[in-house]
Amino acid sequence: MCQGRLFDDLPSPWEEDDRAEELVATVVFPAGAPGEYDYTVPEALREHVEPGRRVRTPLGRGNRLAVGYCVRLGFRAAGRRRLKPIHDVVDRRGLLSPAMLRLTTWIADEYLCPLGQVLDAVVPAGVRAQAGTRTTTVLSLAPEIVGRLDKLDVPAKQAEVLRALAAAGKPLTPGQLAKAAGCTSSPIAALRGKGLIHADADRVHADREAEPAVDRERHLVLNPDQQAALDTILAAVNAPRHETILIHGVTGSGKTEVYIQAIQEVIHFGRQAIVLVPEISLTPQTLARFRSRFDRVAVLHSHLTDAERHWHWQQIADGRVQVVVGARSAIFAPTPHLGLIVLDEEHESTFKQESAPRYHARDVAIARAAAEKIPLVLGSATPSLESWHRAKTGEFTLREMPRRVLDRPMPHVGTIDLREQVHQRHSRGAISRQLHAAMDHALTSGGQVILLLNRRGYSTHIQCPACGHVVRCPECEIALTHHRTEQIALCHYCDFEVPAPTECPQCAFLGIRYSGTGTQRLEAEVKARFPGVECLRMDADTMRARGSHQQALDAFREGTARILLGTQMIAKGLDFPNVTLVGVINADIALHLPDFRAAERTFHLVTQVAGRTGRGEKGGRVLVQTLSPEHPAIQAAIRHDYAAFAAGELPLRKMLSYPPFTRMIRLVIRGPREETAGEFAGHVAGLLREALKRHEAHARVLGPAPAPFAKLRGNYRFQIQAQGEDREKLRLAARDATAELNPPESIQWIVDVDPLDML
Ligand code: ADP
Ligand code: ZN
Repeated sequence: MCQGRLFDDLPSPWEEDDRAEELVATVVFPAGAPGEYDYTVPEALREHVEPGRRVRTPLGRGNRLAVGYCVRLGFRAAGRRRLKPIHDVVDRRGLLSPAMLRLTTWIADEYLCPLGQVLDAVVPAGVRAQAGTRTTTVLSLAPEIVGRLDKLDVPAKQAEVLRALAAAGKPLTPGQLAKAAGCTSSPIAALRGKGLIHADADRVHADREAEPAVDRERHLVLNPDQQAALDTILAAVNAPRHETILIHGVTGSGKTEVYIQAIQEVIHFGRQAIVLVPEISLTPQTLARFRSRFDRVAVLHSHLTDAERHWHWQQIADGRVQVVVGARSAIFAPTPHLGLIVLDEEHESTFKQESAPRYHARDVAIARAAAEKIPLVLGSATPSLESWHRAKTGEFTLREMPRRVLDRPMPHVGTIDLREQVHQRHSRGAISRQLHAAMDHALTSGGQVILLLNRRGYSTHIQCPACGHVVRCPECEIALTHHRTEQIALCHYCDFEVPAPTECPQCAFLGIRYSGTGTQRLEAEVKARFPGVECLRMDADTMRARGSHQQALDAFREGTARILLGTQMIAKGLDFPNVTLVGVINADIALHLPDFRAAERTFHLVTQVAGRTGRGEKGGRVLVQTLSPEHPAIQAAIRHDYAAFAAGELPLRKMLSYPPFTRMIRLVIRGPREETAGEFAGHVAGLLREALKRHEAHARVLGPAPAPFAKLRGNYRFQIQAQGEDREKLRLAARDATAELNPPESIQWIVDVDPLDML
């Protein structure tokens, strides 16, 4: 398929005319019509069409009207192929600056995603729909009478109206004008009738309540490590130049304070800053820290309504916001004079978007910061190996903050070997004897306890001991999890559910066994072991309602709850001075997944959750239960030794040609019929191998093979994985191989550049 020309009329020799030049707009569409389309700009629309605004144009044979983004304007000699004209212009002002258009074009190229789709992901739906605004009539003076009002011969009332409108200095609604002039609507109507006042349609935002005021706080005096990191950032800010600075600072080393003081400098010069954090860290606590230092902070989180999002977006675009704090997509905030980007917890996988465009906010941030010639600060206690490698090879500047502030010690971390527990039959349940004793001690000495178990539900496995049958989701072939409150067996992927079986669905044996511990069962065990001690569970099941996350954290902070247990959502960024014990129930859960980052993920999780203790005066300790205490990832985590982990893991990555030493591109093909999906995957793999050869990319291709989740939601899934050192050649080959794919009906494919999800 020749993209972009599919529906266009063919040139006909007798349609040529001899106009000299015509204005042509290049338009892309968000869905259904990949590629670029050219349209002529009618004379009447010349003032309104510009790159970054949306236009309505006829598309396809039937010339149905479709909304697309104008991405380019240019003149071309008339008389060539005749183009269709633009029908009308949708936006009264540009949605994308030229810089943003360049950035989105880069994203489209880099992640092999049609530009129209990228633009729709970058401009929030609420902005496109102009949510929260209404169309209203606004009045202004006719241009020809501006400056010569006193020469007009009109009745006194009307003269009053004209003076009021001139004094306002901006268009007013009829209501506002009547009020300003102290008159009724009739003199205004008369002036409109005479053509002395012009009426336009404009969109105005509904009035909004002001954010509640936050107490102001002063800057802290930085310690030498913090000061060195700040100096590095400021040198780049003041140069000004682009530089990516990786701050590797242990949990509690005071990274956020460094960001805040760097931002202070940036906004001092009238520029703005963007701070990206994982969605889960967008807590009132974090936000209060920024609000207490800066006047105008916009927070972009996923619970905003379309109207709120639109309002913030407009405020940011108008330069009225100093600091934008938000999750992944805040990297697209339309700040007019960006001075600094900060991306905290840079190792977090939530910075990667798992639907098209499959971008990584870190890489987009690098591209944006480079284009705007500003520094980018990445911060983490456990940097991704990708960033660490780039710092070690000199591409990024590395600043270390190895100590906690105020000489607070790092917590002591010990392991509990679960294998011994099995042999000695000391304890039944998920909490070992040692962990129980440590909890008892922490609670009796007035401390609080956090327990991490990265699995929700009650029993994680339902299996028949007589015939071996495992109860699985018929759509996904994933083992179902027992949720006791609802008495159901639930698929954690697609939410398929059945009543919890009391007998084997296969052989009707009555002793079907429920095993494996999820957070529900752990909660029951904790309550049985520590009766009378208030315990809170945080996981996707208990945290469904908006605000429940915060309620739970508040209850824990206030001390009403003494034990907090939950999935990884409790591992991140929380700061509770009174927590003196952290227990990891099973460190091995993520260790053996078929994913080359399994060890890295385990290291991150254990280190991060360990960082939740010892933040106050009382110090703290961490106990990690594991079946593989000697595993290098767990060994490095218990010694807080990131460098040792990286030094052990990187050579393995190199040996196996994995990122960061290669680029990886993953294709997933899925469909309801296994054979068709498999065949098409084979076809795609063939195209990819040929394209790689053409580009001389020297890459390795694995597959097609069934994906680790071989069936999800009724679709069979096949994957193809390419790894190669030449990032650019690999990308170009994947682009060529997928450019003209024509899958059989019901087969879908995706291409994921630099994938994080390997399942
Ligand atoms: P990180 O982001 O590295 O985890 P934070 O910036 O959250 O660390 O700092 C941890 C705690 O230490 C916070 O309560 C913060 O207010 C405090 N803090 C940071 N810097 C200083 C400093 N220079 N002096 C005293 N306290 C500090
Ligand atoms: Zn399922």
